[in-house]
Amino acid sequence: MIIDCHGHYTTAPKALEQWRNRQIAGIADPVLMPAVSELKISDDELRESIESNQLRLMKERGSDLTIFSPRASFMAHHIGDFNVSSTWAAICNELCHRVAQLFPEHFVGAAMLPQSPGVDPRTSIAEMEKCVREYGFVGINLNPDPSGGHWTSPPLSDRHWYPVYEKMVEYDIPAMIHVSTSCNACFHTTGAHYLNADTTAFMQCLTSDLFQDFPTLKFLIPHGGGAVPYHWGRFRGLAQEMKKPLLKDHLLNNIFFDTCVYHQPGIDLLSKVIPVDNILFASEMIGAVRGIDPETGHYYDDTRRYIENTPYLNAETRQQIFEGNARRVFPRLDAALKQKGL
Ligand SMILES: [Zn+2]
Repeated sequence: MIIDCHGHYTTAPKALEQWRNRQIAGIADPVLMPAVSELKISDDELRESIESNQLRLMKERGSDLTIFSPRASFMAHHIGDFNVSSTWAAICNELCHRVAQLFPEHFVGAAMLPQSPGVDPRTSIAEMEKCVREYGFVGINLNPDPSGGHWTSPPLSDRHWYPVYEKMVEYDIPAMIHVSTSCNACFHTTGAHYLNADTTAFMQCLTSDLFQDFPTLKFLIPHGGGAVPYHWGRFRGLAQEMKKPLLKDHLLNNIFFDTCVYHQPGIDLLSKVIPVDNILFASEMIGAVRGIDPETGHYYDDTRRYIENTPYLNAETRQQIFEGNARRVFPRLDAALKQKGL
């Protein structure tokens, strides 16, 4: 079985975006604020939006199951207040839940949280609970920077975030550390802000003793870990200067990286540098990079190909990356699959 641990609902019917635009207009002028009930998307529209896009590509490329969350750049936690984010998160999570119900063999949900800059993350817990208990979601996306590129929240190691971690540990769900749209002109959303955040999150954990407080807490750092694997020596050296334990003991029981690195040399490096136990297959399809690489003739985000072709893996370690590690990092997914006899 091939599990893609990083997919977003980027192809939702247009009505979703139109409703969101009306919601944003309603922040300035409450008369324009739409009711949730005004958003109407039928099961047929959902089916169509998936069958002709993600599911078609999954079948073509040979992946079986995608951990599916709302479109990351649309989370835009910096827009409006907590109520705006809360309504928006509930809508987006429910759509992912409906997709998972329509295609239970191919999609399982991960939740976006109703975060908002300056608001206690504790307020996100009710949505998280609903998604896990009622929808059967197996993970969350946690945004370390709800301000959208201005980094006004405390680091992930701060007690500010602990209520979320306590709930994650209770439910045994991991968080993918995932920012959203940058509203800082210095940072391109997917080319800079995402990768900066991946690197930043790792370093915040490195300088702290977060995982002493939460030994079973699990973070999945997407986009191949940002700059982390490439600069592994720098991070090891910095940890040494700070008298921290070896990174394998300090961080690698808790931090995992996905394979959303869109070329062969990147995956070669990732699989050579990072222990195989810490790598989970993902494509972030259909996401930021949708074109065909003229050097290979294949889609950049057809990441299975790179895993198959790297000389640093064998049949056993490939299967760990494709399936085994995801089942270990997402215990609720593993339990759901076992219940189906898989
Ligand atoms: Zn993503």
